Amino acid sequence: MRVKCILCDQINIIDDESLLAKRLRNRPIHTYMCKDCHERIAEKTKARLATGKFRLYRSQASHDEW
Ligand SMILES: [Zn+2]
Repeated sequence: MRVKCILCDQINIIDDESLLAKRLRNRPIHTYMCKDCHERIAEKTKARLATGKFRLYRSQASHDEW
């Protein structure tokens, strides 16, 4: 099946029988994220967690777009 990444609009083909495909069929297609973006987000999250300690006491709600 064809899936479109919500972040970069990249179209990927994934195996119909894969777990991901089954999951996407049960949920809206826009939950799909390509590997590149997934890794990018994971890194952002990690970075945020790392800096979070220092920001916690300053402001609780920084830009939380994800
Ligand atoms: Zn992407």
